Amino acid sequence: MIDLHTHSVYSDGTNTPAELVKMAEERGLTALALTDHDTVGGIEPLFEAGAGSSLETVPGIELSAECRKGTMHILGYFIDHTNAALLEKINTVREGREERNHEILKRLNKLGYRLMWTDVEDQAGADVVGRPHFAEALVQRGLVKSRKAAFDLLLAKGRPAYVERYRYTGRECIELIRKAGGVPVLAHPATIYLPDDQLKGLVMGLAEHGLGGIEAYYAEHHPENIEKFRNWAEELNLICTGGTDFHGRNTPDLKLGTGFGQLRVPDEALAQLKAAVGQ
Ligand code: AMP
Ligand code: ZN
Ligand code: FE
Ligand code: FE
Repeated sequence: MIDLHTHSVYSDGTNTPAELVKMAEERGLTALALTDHDTVGGIEPLFEAGAGSSLETVPGIELSAECRKGTMHILGYFIDHTNAALLEKINTVREGREERNHEILKRLNKLGYRLMWTDVEDQAGADVVGRPHFAEALVQRGLVKSRKAAFDLLLAKGRPAYVERYRYTGRECIELIRKAGGVPVLAHPATIYLPDDQLKGLVMGLAEHGLGGIEAYYAEHHPENIEKFRNWAEELNLICTGGTDFHGRNTPDLKLGTGFGQLRVPDEALAQLKAAVGQ
């Protein structure tokens, strides 16, 4: 069993990379990829923890791309996490994130939610501060009932405290990952939120620009979705990858490797990714 999509305290997960390694071992996984949002800060700690274990650790990242309606995320596997161009570009994204975060806080305050920056920071881990930390801070302060309510009422796209932030286009994300020696993979394609014909067109366009894979196996994908994305992958010669999107306490019903219980990511996915980078 393998899991190629997880988050640590370096972005919006609640476990350290070492804890993820330990949990993965306990659950009998053979490989684990760390794919924190916009940061590679957790990669060294992942390698260090992995070195003393039976688990194969895979360096990764998850970048947010520009997307009209829904959410487009591009995963990058086997990136060189010391690549200078990659580090510079993610730094630009992080600066945009910080500006956006302060704007979100201003909006919340204007809307009458008495939240302070320190409340949000207290929820964050090592590196990246994001909307899930705002959600948790609002809950902790007793200002909303649940994380879900925080998104539904305030933080989700189109809600009053939603603020855009700087993102690269899908093609730019792909290029960035390729230049850092990695394999770009379209994460959870269903969240792009387009009708099938348009979504497939988009995937084809990305495939022409260097996309290497598509995340067909995903905890929240229905079996029909998995089948559909597998077919597209075969047609477009893309690798089918998969993972849970584990965020620790921020995804409470989800388990490493199996997601909500049904997920099975074939070992072949990792073998194909490795072949693509010549490993
Ligand atoms: P950020 O990158 O800071 O904009 O935060 C994005 C993260 O917020 C995503 O990766 C999800 O974990 C979470 N998120 C975004 N939209 C929602 C939503 N509608 N409900 C719950 N969580 C969400
Ligand atoms: Zn996340
Ligand atoms: Fe994602
Ligand atoms: Fe993710």
